[in-house]
Amino acid sequence: MKAIICLFMLWLFAAEQMLASDPAGKAIGITTLGANVETGLVERVGRYVEAKYCARVSVRQPGISTNFAVGSLLKVSTTLLQTNDAFLVVLTSVPGKEPVVKLDDSIVCVSLGMLKPAEMDTAQALEQYSRRVEKEAMRAVGLMLGLTNCPNVLCVLSLHRNQAELDAKGCALCPPCLLFKAEEALKGKGVDLIKPKKVLLKRK
Ligand SMILES: [Zn+2]
Repeated sequence: MKAIICLFMLWLFAAEQMLASDPAGKAIGITTLGANVETGLVERVGRYVEAKYCARVSVRQPGISTNFAVGSLLKVSTTLLQTNDAFLVVLTSVPGKEPVVKLDDSIVCVSLGMLKPAEMDTAQALEQYSRRVEKEAMRAVGLMLGLTNCPNVLCVLSLHRNQAELDAKGCALCPPCLLFKAEEALKGKGVDLIKPKKVLLKRK
């Protein structure tokens, strides 16, 4: 009996090591474009998306752009794509009224300007803004995965009509969206999945 338990433990350990080994598949790339992006925001949002989608995210050095017209953003963003990116999420400014803009099958932008509170001079306002960016980045990834709007208001993929509703809605995927839709879509795009317990996400 002891031998069987030992063998089982050994098998568990081996399986754990295999899952923890170097990833072979693709990642969701994330970067910023432009000079006015808060320090540490892209790293925070990248960790958040990785934790909530249980999928590997690759955070990039910021790109440089002074022209935020859609055509120019697409051109510059495309140069930041890497071969192992399933697609790239770009935190930037985009003209228009939509905070999440899909530029093509590889590039999606989260437009930061319209997510900022009127006053950004308190820690509370900065936190509110950062959470909005996290939620919209989650929606941007959902859009690239072909996930549709969710009727569950606790799900981050539910529709919101204004900033108050964005602030009020849930910040993660509901179980059906995560387990029955996102996981399959991520696999379809070849993105490495991460076991939830491997993901560390600290909240202040
Ligand atoms: Zn949902």
